[in-house]
Amino acid sequence: MAEHNFDVVILGGGSGGYAAALRSAQLGKSVALIEKDKLGGTCLHRGCIPTKALLHAAEVADTVKDAAHYGVSANFNAIDMNVVNTYRDGIVDKLFKGLTGLVNSKNITVVKGEGRMVGAKTIQVGEDRYTGTNLVLASGSYSRSLPGLEIGGRVITSEQALQMTFVPNKVIVLGGGVIGVEFASIWRSFGTEVTIVEGLPTLVPNEDASVSKALERAFRKRGIEFKTGVRFSGVQQHENGVIVSLESGETLEAELMLVAVGRGPNTAGLGYEENGISMDRGYVLTNERLQTSVPGVYAAGDIVPGLQLAHRGFQQGIFIAEEIAGLNPAVIDENGIPKVTYCEPEIASVGLSEAKAAEKFGADNISTYEYNLGGNGKSQILGTAGFIKLIRQNNGPVVGVHMIGSRVGEQIGEAQLIVNWEAYPEDVATLIHAHPTMNEAIGEAHLALAGKPLHAHA
Ligand SMILES: Cc1cc2nc3c(=O)[nH]c(=O)nc-3n(C[C@H](O)[C@H](O)[C@H](O)COP(=O)(O)OP(=O)(O)OC[C@H]3O[C@@H](n4cnc5c(N)ncnc54)[C@H](O)[C@@H]3O)c2cc1C
Repeated sequence: MAEHNFDVVILGGGSGGYAAALRSAQLGKSVALIEKDKLGGTCLHRGCIPTKALLHAAEVADTVKDAAHYGVSANFNAIDMNVVNTYRDGIVDKLFKGLTGLVNSKNITVVKGEGRMVGAKTIQVGEDRYTGTNLVLASGSYSRSLPGLEIGGRVITSEQALQMTFVPNKVIVLGGGVIGVEFASIWRSFGTEVTIVEGLPTLVPNEDASVSKALERAFRKRGIEFKTGVRFSGVQQHENGVIVSLESGETLEAELMLVAVGRGPNTAGLGYEENGISMDRGYVLTNERLQTSVPGVYAAGDIVPGLQLAHRGFQQGIFIAEEIAGLNPAVIDENGIPKVTYCEPEIASVGLSEAKAAEKFGADNISTYEYNLGGNGKSQILGTAGFIKLIRQNNGPVVGVHMIGSRVGEQIGEAQLIVNWEAYPEDVATLIHAHPTMNEAIGEAHLALAGKPLHAHA
């Protein structure tokens, strides 16, 4: 058994773990980064990047189908999934090489293998033990299922959905959250008949109610079917497909069922609890400085309760590295984390929904404004519908920005600055937005909320 000592030992080389490693190395620490699979984790290999590549291919397909509308003669023939997958893998490979090169160029020892916590500050990999002055747990998440619902055959999760070499004729998507609506959107653009089944009353139930409603309208228009407020009760597989039963008594048939009911923390059997880490339903509990119940042991990313997003993991990794280095970084405000759902139309939001803002400040103490993209030149050129909705505290800052429309994800940068810098609509109204951009819609919405609408009706 070999013993190795480092300033910082990190378990998991995904968004949270590698960000902690890079920042720690930058701050002069010796780092061991333990990864059993590939650096980059879920986001790079099975999450954010490959899905967005497929969504881009879907956008190209939609553009071709719609080409005649713009006077461009083109025929949509078929989707060649092998070529789509090659394009996607090319992007993942390039980013993976870039990340590997970056990590290798720093004072970071990458340990390939499966690690397990065997002491308050020690991770064992095979016969080797890695002890850190500080330990960072960042073991990520896995696709969850429902009790009694087995994954296999024609019942798949996002991992298998990303490996498919054909476009299915008909799919049932169980779960109308982020991952569910993204795959529904991709498949619909590729020509699949899609039905989403969501137990809660709306699609994307974590978004502002008006955004959920708008997405439902847009999906209806795109021919994506959905059943909300109805629970799944079982699935039977046969040679050519699946029969899905709902608690309402209804049954649905399709070629495949995608289970997209959320992600669970990957912590089972890793020795966390045995070594004194406080946990709740598999999640690692931390204080706001991301310290676990064991001094000197921190946690980052999807294993920490909260939004399961790559950029949250990155930020937590950076925070932990700076905390360990004694830089006393500012606590991460979970409410200020931007969220983008990359289906067509896209959804982007930051801050409080109207319901949450009303709960926090009182319904009489907030004002809202919805700027329709119908008034935005670039949106008209692109042929997208949607809106930008703002919520402000009366005589106070903007506390929520909620957007829906093609490509609105690209607008989230300004929206998150506004919310996180606690800007007043009056402050933003004086800033100049280039014409014609979709970004102008943010400026227009703030002008209106500041009481001086320009290109807005009413
Ligand atoms: C289909 C899909 C699409 C997504 N799209 C987006 C998106 O568009 N934007 C966004 O922000 N987020 C997205 N996410 C979420 C994002 O991928 C996660 O929030 C992010 O990857 C979490 O980072 P992490 O470091 O906590 O964990 P992970 O990225 O899961 O990394 C954990 C790493 O730890 C390793 N590991 C685990 N256990 C051990 C062990 N015992 N020993 C050694 N290594 C171990 C794993 O191999 C893995 O590489 C998506 C996720 C999915 C599934």
